[in-house]
Amino acid sequence: MNFQFESTSKIEISASAFRQNLTYLRNEFGSGTEISAVVKGNAYGHSIPVFVPLAESEGIRHFSVFSAEEAWNVKKNLTHDSDIMIMGSIPDESLSWVIESGIEFYVFELERLELALKTADRMNLKARIHLEFETGMNRTGFDILELESIREMLNRFPNAYEIEGICTHFAGAESSANFVRVRRQLKKFKQVVRLSTKNGIHAKKLHAACSAAALTFPDTQMDMVRIGIALYGYWPTPETYMHHRLRSGADAIEHIQADPLKRVLSWKSRVMSVKSVQPGEFVGYGTSYLAGIPTKIAAVPVGYAYGFTRSLSNLGRVIVGGQRTSVIGVVNMNMMLVDITETPHVKRGDEVVLIGEQNGHEITVASFSEMTRHINYETLVRLPADIPRILLEK
Ligand SMILES: *Cc1c(COP(=O)(O)O)cnc(C)c1O
Repeated sequence: MNFQFESTSKIEISASAFRQNLTYLRNEFGSGTEISAVVKGNAYGHSIPVFVPLAESEGIRHFSVFSAEEAWNVKKNLTHDSDIMIMGSIPDESLSWVIESGIEFYVFELERLELALKTADRMNLKARIHLEFETGMNRTGFDILELESIREMLNRFPNAYEIEGICTHFAGAESSANFVRVRRQLKKFKQVVRLSTKNGIHAKKLHAACSAAALTFPDTQMDMVRIGIALYGYWPTPETYMHHRLRSGADAIEHIQADPLKRVLSWKSRVMSVKSVQPGEFVGYGTSYLAGIPTKIAAVPVGYAYGFTRSLSNLGRVIVGGQRTSVIGVVNMNMMLVDITETPHVKRGDEVVLIGEQNGHEITVASFSEMTRHINYETLVRLPADIPRILLEK
């Protein structure tokens, strides 16, 4: 017997939108600055197996991830000789695999530095390290006062390392409220670099910027930028977008320009069933939705188990039958109900857009943020890994 299962929804990945984002970003950064594609969180929900080969086909050769496990997943899906950099967690027992695989990684404390050097030394290999420094975010990173200890440690294992980078991370470059803090961090970073050089520590690359920093403060770009959200087609915050528009004259009345960043991902399902509800009846679990008029509803086989958050009960929007309409009642584990009273021609099997476009209407990722407390980043990474991702040329 041969069963065929179709998933209850699918996520489309637009190659042309990605290309457009990359073209815009490359123009912003100039040729001396390499783009490292940040693909943590399953490539911000776009799926590592689909997104990594797509990025490589457009010339990306550097990928940033959070953990050793994600690095393993990226490595498995590489189609070129690209570099992978771990910015966060490496369990001690994975360190030898990381070094042996030639994967670059952040080192932000002496204990990890020593372990990395010892491990590489034992294997007769070089650990490809990025020294991360604390400049004011107060998350991870060496203190500038540790520079001498770092040098001493490095001197004990002169053949066990390659210093690929010296780096830091900004604490909120996406908001002008943090302007002074970010400028102070940059100043501190420059001081770190000067002092490292003085201590004989030279890195191949200096890097500090995420999307917001790179787009708002061009002097943070340096040798490499670590770009996540913008590659996928989103501004880190509306403020970052305003900054772009004002600077580029995109609001000049003579030539109002379209947003240069395009959403790469769309999320779609199909109508599972339709039915009519009499006025005075409650719809779905409990009493949160009362049909006040003769109402037509469609059941859509997507619920909170599939990443459509329950906080969108009676609030969410979808597009079906060419019209935007509302989620009614509570979002169930595997299903939700939407109002099709105004589009009574909708039938079983019709496309339902959860994120994306249909008939000139659009549901944005940001619209999820307006109704929940999820920022774009969170809405994207909550999309379950087991929803199939389909790569589209257009
Ligand atoms: C996630 C992350 C980035 C990318 O941030 P975006 O805002 O998505 O561009 C860059 N650097 C570090 C250290 C990160 O954790």
